[in-house]
Amino acid sequence: MTTTTASTVTERISVERPFFAVEFFPPKDDQGEADLWRAIRRLEVLDPAYVSVTYGAGGSSRDRTVRTVERIATDTTLCSMAHLTAVSHSRDELRHVIGSLAAAGVRNIMALRGDPPGDPLGEWVKHPEGLEYADELVSLIKRSGPFCVGVAAFPYGHPRSADLESDTEKLIGKFRAGAEFAVTQLFLEPEGFLRLRDRVAAAGFDQQIIPGIMPLTSEKTFHKGPELSGSPLPESLIERLSPYSGDPKSFRPAGMEVTGELCERLIAEGVPGIHFYSLNRSTATTELVERLGLADGGPGPTAGEPVAAMPAAVRA
Ligand SMILES: Cc1cc2nc3c(=O)[nH]c(=O)nc-3n(C[C@H](O)[C@H](O)[C@H](O)COP(=O)(O)OP(=O)(O)OC[C@H]3O[C@@H](n4cnc5c(N)ncnc54)[C@H](O)[C@@H]3O)c2cc1C
Repeated sequence: MTTTTASTVTERISVERPFFAVEFFPPKDDQGEADLWRAIRRLEVLDPAYVSVTYGAGGSSRDRTVRTVERIATDTTLCSMAHLTAVSHSRDELRHVIGSLAAAGVRNIMALRGDPPGDPLGEWVKHPEGLEYADELVSLIKRSGPFCVGVAAFPYGHPRSADLESDTEKLIGKFRAGAEFAVTQLFLEPEGFLRLRDRVAAAGFDQQIIPGIMPLTSEKTFHKGPELSGSPLPESLIERLSPYSGDPKSFRPAGMEVTGELCERLIAEGVPGIHFYSLNRSTATTELVERLGLADGGPGPTAGEPVAAMPAAVRA
């Protein structure tokens, strides 16, 4: 099938019922490419609102982002979004990448500053002819054409932010620069997300903030996710999941139950949808989409309505 889906993410997420979306990363080799496309094809039939592809630290991985997102835009029915970062790019190089995305039919870009290559918490050194913060990239993209732009949000604050208030102000600065929605860093309990949403609403901004959720399929995702994201690892969840430690088969359904409950709570709190960090797999996302009734035409709940508990998803 060769169709170009011209819809924007904003159009796709401005819907009455909760949606789901999926994030991928560009594959490193042929096997990774095959795995990714198997996942894309399996998820395509569930009609995600959009799928996004992350942008790497440099070189060939960046070309692979553009190629992957281009292929999704031309070979699938999906609404695609490319991530783009300011790391090691001059303004001219950024304009060139934006031009390549436009030529490939990509209308949606997630504008990010990115992290210093090698050490995410290392010193940020801006390219001498580049950009300092993501709000500048939002402006550059918006000046480059009719793109729909999303940005990152941090329920527990970005690790470089002094406090939650200044962190929220910077997010609002990205909305002021033209960003139409935000996707959050992964988190394991809803409170930080809900408070962030309240702070943004109290400041008078109504852009959608989409929770980013990583399915807890393994102990590694449970521990590594918070470590890399800066979100807290709640003591109650450590206790709840500790009986399954060292036993991947029993950890998975227990972790997926935790993820399902978190998504249910967020949907009951009226989130517009869920952005799943898929790690280029389809099984866990599919299980959660089915559990939550988020597939197109499914019997899903209306945003704001509580969701009845459903059985734990177990890997086939
Ligand atoms: C949904 C999502 C997707 C991501 N995808 C990728 C990806 O594809 N590739 C990748 O490399 N990384 C990705 N990241 C990680 C992201 O690049 C890092 O977290 C990065 O450190 C912050 O990016 P940002 O766009 O939020 O930066 P910014 O919004 O620029 O914020 C960075 C820091 O500077 C502060 N700040 C922001 N604006 C200003 C300003 N005007 N003045 C003073 N201070 C300011 C902020 O409060 C924050 O502390 C993603 C993160 C998320 C949440």
